Amino acid sequence: MNDRLIEAIAERREDLVSLTLELIRFPTVNPPGEAYRPCAEHIGARLGEGGFAIEYIRAEGAPGDSDRYPRTNIVARREGELAGPTVHFNGHIDVVEPGQGWSLDPFKGVVRDGRVYGRGACDMKGGLAAAIIAAETYIDLNPSFPGAIEISGTVDEESGGFGGVAWLASRGYFSKPRVDHVIIPEPLNKDRICLGHRGVWWAEIETKGEIAHGSMPFLGDCAVRHMSAVVAAFEAELFPLLEAKRTRMPVVPEGARRSTLNLNSVHGGQTDDFRPGLPSPNVPDSCRLMIDRRYLLEEHPDEVKDEVISILEGLRRSRPRFDYEIRDIMEVRPLMTEPDAPVAAALAHGIRAVFDREPDYVISPGTYDQKHVARIGQLYDCVAYGPGILDLAHRPDEWVGIDDMVESAQVMAIGLDLLLRGTG
Ligand SMILES: [Zn+2]
Repeated sequence: MNDRLIEAIAERREDLVSLTLELIRFPTVNPPGEAYRPCAEHIGARLGEGGFAIEYIRAEGAPGDSDRYPRTNIVARREGELAGPTVHFNGHIDVVEPGQGWSLDPFKGVVRDGRVYGRGACDMKGGLAAAIIAAETYIDLNPSFPGAIEISGTVDEESGGFGGVAWLASRGYFSKPRVDHVIIPEPLNKDRICLGHRGVWWAEIETKGEIAHGSMPFLGDCAVRHMSAVVAAFEAELFPLLEAKRTRMPVVPEGARRSTLNLNSVHGGQTDDFRPGLPSPNVPDSCRLMIDRRYLLEEHPDEVKDEVISILEGLRRSRPRFDYEIRDIMEVRPLMTEPDAPVAAALAHGIRAVFDREPDYVISPGTYDQKHVARIGQLYDCVAYGPGILDLAHRPDEWVGIDDMVESAQVMAIGLDLLLRGTG
């Protein structure tokens, strides 16, 4: 069966390239969420012809949803002839804005030197096309397959997935008994299996002060100076602590194999920007700092927050008039599917069959839609596996290699076969 799948998918190379080009030509830029519906309908029309039952699910009322920018997801399901598990391929159809620096039209879809170029080629329309070709080829070769195959094209992954996978997950689309195994063909390289991601805690810290005339700062209390004390304390106490925390999670790149903290932004005083307005001669009574803390499986979220709060409480004791508030903005738990989980084992088998080597197991430094499958769907047999080089995502002249797409489709088809027959 493996050899027949490998051969049949190699013969569909042109079809795979055409489908990728077709998807790139829908400028599904998010925000605002352009062209979602026609892109979803294009996928639905193709899979519908192939015998899939098609559902279009609009996330009405989700962030960003409107009649002008409907959050339209597509879920396609093909029942097999025998009882068995369901394997679901999920790809996001949204892309980030092209930005500057392109040498070609980002939405034309260009084939050159064995690569497909365009916004979303790598992240992740190439991967979604490869999953579709894998499923179609598998069905053609095994018309009486057991179980069921699902393919979804979902929206808004780039902005958190609330109108996409999160929306569907909270309506049972990513839970048992409907679905057993989920593969997300994000661009993690064709011979790597991504088992999950680090945790995230975003929070906003606000220091308080007292307004006064800027010529007499001693009459007020400067919130920006209080914030600089916070940053200085982070430099002295928190960053060294985080540097030293290592993880067994195989995060790539290597530098992310530890705890990290980014200071995303800082805003203090009455005007942030002098260009449109006029400077404000005041002592600032408020300063806000947004922090982005990425944490590890070995860390508990309470411990992550306590490290920050204990520094702030220390300043409250040591620094006159120091006062602050802290607000949670977003929280995602770290996730790691074990390498011997069925979906990872099945794809590993496919990688051995196609490349004659062992897969690398990796963890993404940032999160993706797997978080919703786990937290909302309570489904843990989920990994990311797909063609494309992660570093090219979101960059100008983004591309995906055609050989990589073909080979990863072969891996997915072999994995699909094992999972459906329950031998993964
Ligand atoms: Zn992506």
